[in-house]
Amino acid sequence: RDSCVSDSSDSVISSGSDTEGQIYKVVLLGDHGVGKSSLARIFGGVEDGHDCEEAGNTYDRSIIVDDEEASIVLYDVWEQDNSQWLKDQCMKMGDAYIIVYSVTDKASFEKASELRIQLRRARQSENIPIILVGNKSDLVRSREVSVDEGRACAVVFDCKFIETSASLHHNVRDLFEGIVRQIRLRKDSKED
Ligand code: GDP
Ligand code: MG
Repeated sequence: RDSCVSDSSDSVISSGSDTEGQIYKVVLLGDHGVGKSSLARIFGGVEDGHDCEEAGNTYDRSIIVDDEEASIVLYDVWEQDNSQWLKDQCMKMGDAYIIVYSVTDKASFEKASELRIQLRRARQSENIPIILVGNKSDLVRSREVSVDEGRACAVVFDCKFIETSASLHHNVRDLFEGIVRQIRLRKDSKED
């Protein structure tokens, strides 16, 4: 009955952990420069300060949400190369998605909508958890996308919404807890 979440890429991470919990694959999507890797590094606990321009990374971590442990593999690989194959894989493999734009970059906001549409197309019948993230909320003076615009977009696209600042670590924890809660909610409703 888990067939809806498994695919060929499973072998990479399903190396028999003995915990009862499942490992959730969470994929970061979004334009270049919006802060995906910064958010991913905070999640992964990598706090080395400088921006490493590494092409792609995955972060493997367990977090406690509502007194229950959740194992997550976070994929920051969307920009790893320009192959359509990788992009297709990204669209297929996630149990949940974090679509990031920068509140200082209107074009990245429009790109987020595009990604949402692509995702819907790729996973038509599935009800996949998605959180739309407006990052760089600390950059007040250069803001181009208002909170209301972000929120309205999330309503249209039937997903959750949060603004974050990776620089200030603001709301980053809430973001990852939120994604775990979303995954659990949808999973429970499927099992009923
Ligand atoms: P990616 O291309 O989406 O992976 O974006 P990065 O994480 O590499 O971030 C791009 C640039 O934006 C870097 O210089 C970051 O330091 C900066 N950045 C990321 N998040 C924030 C944020 O919340 N606030 C500010 N002011 N800068 C940020
Ligand atoms: Mg990056």
